[in-house]
Amino acid sequence: MSKHCSLQETADVLKSAKKIVLCSHVSPDGDTLGSTLGLMKALQKLGKDVIVTADDDISKVYKFLPGIENFVRFRDEERIDADLLVVIDASSLDRAGNVAQCVKAPKMLNIDHHISNTEYADYLYLDTVAAATGEIMYELIKVLGTEIDVEMAICLYTALYTDCGSFKYSNTMPKTMRIAAELLELGVKPNEISDSMEIKPRSNIEMLTRVLETLTFDADGKIAYISISNEMYDKDVDTDTFISYPRYIEGVEVAIMFKAVENALTRVSMRSRNLDVSGIAIAFGGGGHLRAAGCTIMAALPEAQKQLLQALKDQLV
Ligand code: AMP
Ligand code: MN
Ligand code: MN
Repeated sequence: MSKHCSLQETADVLKSAKKIVLCSHVSPDGDTLGSTLGLMKALQKLGKDVIVTADDDISKVYKFLPGIENFVRFRDEERIDADLLVVIDASSLDRAGNVAQCVKAPKMLNIDHHISNTEYADYLYLDTVAAATGEIMYELIKVLGTEIDVEMAICLYTALYTDCGSFKYSNTMPKTMRIAAELLELGVKPNEISDSMEIKPRSNIEMLTRVLETLTFDADGKIAYISISNEMYDKDVDTDTFISYPRYIEGVEVAIMFKAVENALTRVSMRSRNLDVSGIAIAFGGGGHLRAAGCTIMAALPEAQKQLLQALKDQLV
């Protein structure tokens, strides 16, 4: 169990440390990266010694984020001393990859918005209503008392933009829009963020055409799924947005993307209209939100598909 902190207590935990490691989750997305970089700058302005890390490759999509070049990846045998480890936008410690083992810090703080949070850190700031961890970060930085400059604003806006599906998903609250509006006032250009996020290399669209050929329906059209076999998988091609294709098909209740990143390791993304897919993700050792969740199944693609579809169909009846 973690100590649940208020924003002020979270700010105090950060202020009492000098050397701080900020950790984004594996399969890093715009929310974890933008939130981490926004906090990094705020803490640097307070004179802190900050390291930002993720135990994974970072998609080229995010190269426009100011400060992204600061990300380091620790080797498994590396040991880093710090006063505080902050794990950002990760509901369970396995999402931190090797970082928890590499960083030797007396305390761990987790800042998160997932309903599936497992309370693994000493201190926890959890707001499951926040559309994105970026929303929490915006408020936290204000409590820390640092000015949000345009670079930080770009990072935080990208965090929001990512997790609420460019302000389209049901998690988009009036507060989300108010924070986004304030970030625009600080100089964010919405078209520049959306172009950075949406303009893709040709290789991405070429992969998409192949992936769409795998589109399959199940449960009388209530389930639609696409698959990336291990042969098709290319770590340099960002596939995060592909799931929106099965998601926006008439009659589809749950959309799934299976991605065989290794022969016996399949990553699963789920999006639903109403069904709580976070419960299914948790049952497979993953997590997420009610309508957007994921897990990793240690099995080859066909076996992972079979197991997950069965679990899902049991819920749909
Ligand atoms: P994704 O489908 O990867 O965009 O993830 C959707 C949501 O599920 C995000 O909030 C992720 O943080 C969460 N999620 C995805 N995969 C996992 C996993 N293996 N373990 C825990 N949470 C996950
Ligand atoms: Mn995330
Ligand atoms: Mn998030």
